[in-house]
Amino acid sequence: MSTVTEARKRFRETGRVRPRFWRMQNVRRMVQIVFLALFLLLLAFTVYPVRSPIPVDFFFRADPLAVLSTFIASREVIGALIPLAGFMLILTVVLGRFFCGWFCPMGTVIDLSDRFLVRWKRRAAGARGFPQVKYYLLAMVLVSALFSVQIAYFFDPFAILTRTVVWVLFAPIALLGRMLTGSPMVADWAPALTHIPFVPESQPHYRMNLLAALLFGGILALGLVSRRFWCRNLCPLGALLALLSGWGIVRRQTQSDRCIECHRCDRECKMGSILPDSHRYLARECIYCYNCVSVCAPGATSFPITLRREGFETGTDIHRRRLLGFAALGMLWAGISAGDTSAKRVGNSPIKASSPFRIRPPGSLPEDQFLQKCVRCSLCMKVCPTNGLQPALTEAGIEGFWTPVLVPRIGHCAQHCTACGDVCPTDAIQPFTAEEKKYLFIGRAYIDRSTCIVWAQDKKCLVCDEHCSYRALYWKVVDGLRRPFVNEYLCTGCGECEAKCPVQPIAAIRVNTMGDLRHLTREAQKRFYERHLEKKE
Ligand code: SF4
Ligand code: SF4
Repeated sequence: MSTVTEARKRFRETGRVRPRFWRMQNVRRMVQIVFLALFLLLLAFTVYPVRSPIPVDFFFRADPLAVLSTFIASREVIGALIPLAGFMLILTVVLGRFFCGWFCPMGTVIDLSDRFLVRWKRRAAGARGFPQVKYYLLAMVLVSALFSVQIAYFFDPFAILTRTVVWVLFAPIALLGRMLTGSPMVADWAPALTHIPFVPESQPHYRMNLLAALLFGGILALGLVSRRFWCRNLCPLGALLALLSGWGIVRRQTQSDRCIECHRCDRECKMGSILPDSHRYLARECIYCYNCVSVCAPGATSFPITLRREGFETGTDIHRRRLLGFAALGMLWAGISAGDTSAKRVGNSPIKASSPFRIRPPGSLPEDQFLQKCVRCSLCMKVCPTNGLQPALTEAGIEGFWTPVLVPRIGHCAQHCTACGDVCPTDAIQPFTAEEKKYLFIGRAYIDRSTCIVWAQDKKCLVCDEHCSYRALYWKVVDGLRRPFVNEYLCTGCGECEAKCPVQPIAAIRVNTMGDLRHLTREAQKRFYERHLEKKE
């Protein structure tokens, strides 16, 4: 019996083909699991002090969309971001869009969710969808970046996944971990469990977790329409890689003499890239999942390394008008961001007139540059040991949505900590040392005399002074009583006083952007600080 007949028979009897374990589909699944595990492990390692053997921002460095939009928006090429993202681009040009099928953790999560949804819905994988939309979204992101406004964060798969894990899942995981490590019963029965690494000392929580959960849930739910709906139709990173993958040397080929026209490959293709005749496919949509090879009964499909230029199409079906329409949307978004009153400067102020409580982490670039570079990865928020860094809602205007702001009432900026500067992939927060922190002025505390216990009630209270790590409070006798004042040269805006102030619900001492000196160079901020020392002498 010939191989083809054998395969046909096996297929008819069992519906299965190629029972070998080491088929490419399984290898791909293993690689996917390894990269998803690495992604989660690196997030687990994103704690203070950062001691990860691999940079915790590894996936963002390998993300050509985040890197490209940051370069364009900031008009700056960041050397550290070139090697991995560049390697990923070259790999795509040479081999094809392997990244999406093998490495992208978002793609893996979608695959896992689709398995469940498809079984539940019993829906075929075939339906083609609107693959052009992802190119339009890519155009929108890049045009907006051309006008120096970052919106890649909204669609970037790594940013979406990281935000979901950090804002939504980290809190319940930490709660469970803390229950285990703190439980006397666990200490008796399994003492090893009381030392689970990476469990935070205090319970973290994040604003915007519901919105992040809804967005991510929505992306997964799109699997009810078709498998990998997000990757096929919406992901601008996928679009960027698809544009580069038309010339790869790994090509799907079908042997007509073996093909039994069962069209299983067509139905099983999760990207809808196989054309109805089953022999040709859309090369830019193929993510090399090898599903078509696995389901092919007589082994008619393979992916050899070849320079043959037939059996595939590289068209993108992009409509010029729609492309221009989305590009115009990018411009419109950039225009709205620029026209947003909270993004305007008042007079000659170096600080934009957004909320006075838009306190950035230390080491942050001046606001304009910060907004151009921050990709809203939320790594800084994950690593902040006090949980004080939170996603901005309105504090930083439309353009600054989801950027990190310090909310001292939740947690202050700890004196010894330098973690956010260590993990920021785009250097929106520049690395700094604990020693430098004393002159990295992110804001300044002011005392509300109408609510301060000492000023308003003539009673004694020392809480802010006791907690200030920079000794920035001093006392003067006013109306017969010692009253607190803030030393502008020493107060860095860390917010420890605000965090500990006993006045509720709004602290009587609050940090605002008045003392934010990020528009000065580090050297100039240091001189500002040293002026105080000279005065003392
Ligand atoms: S299309 Fe986007 S989300 Fe999907 S696998 Fe590729 S990069 Fe990841
Ligand atoms: S500032 Fe924070 S959220 Fe923005 S890129 Fe850096 S680490 Fe990510």
